[in-house]
Amino acid sequence: MLELKHIKKYYHVGDTLTKAQDDVSVAFRKQEFVAILGPSGSGKTTMLNIIGGLDRYDSGDLVIKGKSTKDFKDADWDAYRNNSVGFIFQSYNLISHLSIMENVEMGMTLSGVPAAEKKRRAEDALIRVGLKDHMHKNPSQLSGGQMQRVAIARAIANDPEILLADEPTGALDSETSEEIMKLIQELSRERLVIMVTHNPQLAHKYADRVIEFADGQIRKDSNPHVEGEKGDEFKLNRTKMSYWTALKLSFNNIRTKKGRTFLTVFASSIGIIGIAVVLALSNGFQKQIDKTQSEAMASMPVTIAQVGTDTNAMMTGTQQKTFSKHQYVTAEKSDADKAQHINKLSQKYLDYVNAMPKKDAKNIATTYGTGLNLVRKVNGTYETVSFSTSDPDSNAVNASAMMAASTGIGGSVYPIDRSGGQSFLKTYYKVIAGRYPTKATDIVLVVNKDNSLNINALKNLGFSPKEGTKLKFNELVGTKLQLIANDDYYQQLPTGNFIPTQDLAKAASQSGTKTLTVTGILRVKSKNSDGLLASGVAYSAALTKAVMTANEDSAIVTAQTASETNVMTGARMDAATRSAWLASLGAKSTPSAIQIYPTNFKDKDKVLSYLDKYNKGKKKADRVIYTDLAGTVSDMTGGLMDAITYVLVAFAGISLVTSMIMIAIITYTSVLERTKEIGVLKALGARKKDITRVFDAETFILGFGAGLFGIFVAWALTFPINAVLLKVTSLSGVAQLNPTHALVLVVISTILTILGGHVPARMAAKKDAAIALRAE
Ligand code: ADP
Ligand code: MG
Repeated sequence: MLELKHIKKYYHVGDTLTKAQDDVSVAFRKQEFVAILGPSGSGKTTMLNIIGGLDRYDSGDLVIKGKSTKDFKDADWDAYRNNSVGFIFQSYNLISHLSIMENVEMGMTLSGVPAAEKKRRAEDALIRVGLKDHMHKNPSQLSGGQMQRVAIARAIANDPEILLADEPTGALDSETSEEIMKLIQELSRERLVIMVTHNPQLAHKYADRVIEFADGQIRKDSNPHVEGEKGDEFKLNRTKMSYWTALKLSFNNIRTKKGRTFLTVFASSIGIIGIAVVLALSNGFQKQIDKTQSEAMASMPVTIAQVGTDTNAMMTGTQQKTFSKHQYVTAEKSDADKAQHINKLSQKYLDYVNAMPKKDAKNIATTYGTGLNLVRKVNGTYETVSFSTSDPDSNAVNASAMMAASTGIGGSVYPIDRSGGQSFLKTYYKVIAGRYPTKATDIVLVVNKDNSLNINALKNLGFSPKEGTKLKFNELVGTKLQLIANDDYYQQLPTGNFIPTQDLAKAASQSGTKTLTVTGILRVKSKNSDGLLASGVAYSAALTKAVMTANEDSAIVTAQTASETNVMTGARMDAATRSAWLASLGAKSTPSAIQIYPTNFKDKDKVLSYLDKYNKGKKKADRVIYTDLAGTVSDMTGGLMDAITYVLVAFAGISLVTSMIMIAIITYTSVLERTKEIGVLKALGARKKDITRVFDAETFILGFGAGLFGIFVAWALTFPINAVLLKVTSLSGVAQLNPTHALVLVVISTILTILGGHVPARMAAKKDAAIALRAE
């Protein structure tokens, strides 16, 4: 069944050579009770360890059921220990943080026996060793004899063919020793039992065969056996510990050291807490900065007007340093006039602007000089109305269309989100009555912070308020205006001149008439963005576009296009006045202004360089000059914030590395502490991998715990931090923990801890089982 052939095992320590096994040859029967006697240090334990596969022989061969073990791999030895061998030690070697049941089940746990089966077999084994009534205790609650019974139950639970016992009664009183011997004798009826003892009486009383050992050699064998040639088939099942088992094992161990575990977790979490708080703060500050920037950008858009100011030209003009000595006077344009630059806002330029990347400038407002023929039914009769904010009663000229031509149509054009939404209005304005506009024919009233509205705007819309009159929201919201097409609005007199129609009611009922509705009253959300749109009417650029499309081929536009003089008054006009007048009548024209709203300073820089690119290589006259109102406001804050964040995260990162080193030390200590346990696990058939897994699982639990704990503490800290910041800076809710950051930090904590603990874990796995079991 089992045969040792010329086994040698030498230990070299310094200059001394110990021959622990000095050419040992012996064969054992399939079933017998062998006792091995011999003085201390004679090599008994070494032989037992070699037989049990816990230790390797230097030379010779160990033949199991006729099969040589010379070519055994680690996995074969692991399987052999797990399936075929049961170990009993003098000091019981129970794993103290596991229950009795779990101790007995461990070998089967390692080989992956299903839970129910495992439980049944463990219970059988415990009944067999006489511990029926103590099954649910902890190892620490048992007497020495009872602990040894548990160890025996553990050894036989897998029903091994070989039971190896190394001085199993060495720590027990004589009465208990006899009981244990009886139990072992009984177990030897079904298997080969090899027991080392220093007690010759017990050996001779219970064993079938007594072998005497001295100086690594067999000196006497009471019943030698010659191994037959034929052996039974030898089969080994591989063992495999699941990650779950490793986790459970580690968790149990951690549970027995609550105080230490808590301190470890707490200390390791400090790095995580630091980083999480820094990130939460910078997150909040960055949000504040972004908000302030975006508000600033909204009130200071990049503006391209029909007439731009070339600041470079203005600079050169004033740089004359010396006084002139000339005896004459030179006629010259003023500096301001010299700097004036007519922008050609051609369709090509518009297309260029519109092709700008959407992410750099979300909103663009295009204003045209197009006039609107507006009427409103007030008290049953139609009146001409307008979006203008100039005083309708101050002078008579106001009524003339010329006024409209020079001032545009009044009111504000709000920017349209280039993706088609109303993000500008929704970002900066809130609805205090009605709703946001959705169509081109929806118009809104913009009020000041105190809900005041320009009185002239109201008067021009056909209301008759006095200063201080309080208007109810519903008097304004829902107000309807009629927008009349040129051909319905202007009549041509027999003289050929055009005049506005006298019958507004008839014009208003024509099919070309559109109805505009005041859908809501809006007010700025934040005082920082005050005055983005002037108090009064605000409408969409789409409305002007629609009017242009409707009117560009109307009779009055066609007539005016052909005529040098004004087709209404007959007055002569210069080129500029004439083109403004044409535009106000609705002729196809270029915009009077383009306003581009970048969302922050970085985007603005991109917008500007995009616009600059258009001018590259163009003649001076063809260049388009923009005005950058926000030009002087710098981008410092954003970059500074990033820099501060990096520095702080780096500092917190150092504490993270510190905790990683600490975890490594703690794991190392744990490895030292649990040396015995590692030996026992190996004796039960655990692979190197399984041992690594147990310790990796432990560091996983610690790292994960530290991560979760750190995040929790950081989250809890945001409340007092925010309370303090609110007091000091009046900014509310600055520290905000980003869930993604939290998740990433937990993962980082777990990974770093596992990394820190992995090296000691590998060391544990490499520990020699025989040496580990000798450790005290
Ligand atoms: P026994 O069990 O009979 O008391 P052992 O088998 O434990 O004896 O030891 C046999 C000899 O081998 C002893 O002299 C012991 O010191 C030596 N020995 C055992 N293990 C080692 C080791 N890892 N390194 C050096 N010497 C060892
Ligand atoms: Mg020994």
